[in-house]
Amino acid sequence: MYNYKKRLLIEKKKFFNYSSLILPTLSFARSGNHIILPKKPFEYFHKKREGKRILIIGGIHGNEMGAYKAADLLVDMDIKADVLIIPRSNFTSILADVRGYNGDMNRKFDYISKKDPDFYCVELLKEAILDFKPDLLISMHDGYGFSSKYRHSWGQSVVIDEIEYKNFKLFKEAEFVKKNANKYLKWPVSIINTKTFSSTIHNEQKKALTGWCLKNNIKAFCIEASKQLPSLKDKVYTHLVMLREFFNLYNIKSNIDEYIKNIDLKEIFPSVKLKINNQFYRINKTTKIKLPLNADIEIADIKGNRGSFVVPKGINLNWRKFYFKNLTLEVKNDFEKKYEIHLKG
Ligand SMILES: [Zn+2]
Repeated sequence: MYNYKKRLLIEKKKFFNYSSLILPTLSFARSGNHIILPKKPFEYFHKKREGKRILIIGGIHGNEMGAYKAADLLVDMDIKADVLIIPRSNFTSILADVRGYNGDMNRKFDYISKKDPDFYCVELLKEAILDFKPDLLISMHDGYGFSSKYRHSWGQSVVIDEIEYKNFKLFKEAEFVKKNANKYLKWPVSIINTKTFSSTIHNEQKKALTGWCLKNNIKAFCIEASKQLPSLKDKVYTHLVMLREFFNLYNIKSNIDEYIKNIDLKEIFPSVKLKINNQFYRINKTTKIKLPLNADIEIADIKGNRGSFVVPKGINLNWRKFYFKNLTLEVKNDFEKKYEIHLKG
């Protein structure tokens, strides 16, 4: 069996060598305070069981919180299949709460430059997919509007690249999911066929994750809730109801019903341990800190949800090390800012 953990460590190491190349050159004499931010995790969760191999991918688009929050709930579920879950594929964009902080990641699967800040995540995703070789891959999104009302909207849909592709009966499976999921949905889902390979209308889909998967003989679908649903819970509910029908179709037993009945996006309030020179400070609310001269700052630890992290305000989120005079750190649970730490030089 493939050792993901080992590979991820190797990849991370490679990434940091590469990452240091894109940081500004700091050859001048030291002036000011210096901070080292933690590496953004690329988390995957493998529930190794007998049965069908299912790969769930959330968060390719950072401002689609229904998708990555629903994927995150799957991590805690009891699912009787061999399931790999990557809930936050594009964590930088999730923290920034934008579609693509470094451009649209879902257009980079056909080709990505080594200089692209998304290179590491896209390569890890591709490698995980090819190594895991799932029987079914689902990429989760929140699209604009309601596809059953407006032809050009993507919200509330199951997206397929073709009616059939190779021996994959994509429409037939999507139809099963749509028909059964709609019994439980106030805002019904419909099927969108992008005709990725048989027409040129959606040429961009050839560069997207599902198009790339199909070319590599992996059966793949997108499921989309709507960005315009009244609440985050409604978006998560739409995703879980569609996923339950995929589980039914593949005869996968799980306790997803419990999660659908009671959608609990339980939150742990984040706390941060800062190391300033050799002193440690545990912080859990908005705080001002007067720094000593030429301070060295590190984030020693972040406690909270799986999506808890620290980002520097007004600084390029791809940077990990830099000098500053004054700096504000935002402590976030995914898109949501919980408090700020003001570092004053
Ligand atoms: Zn999306």
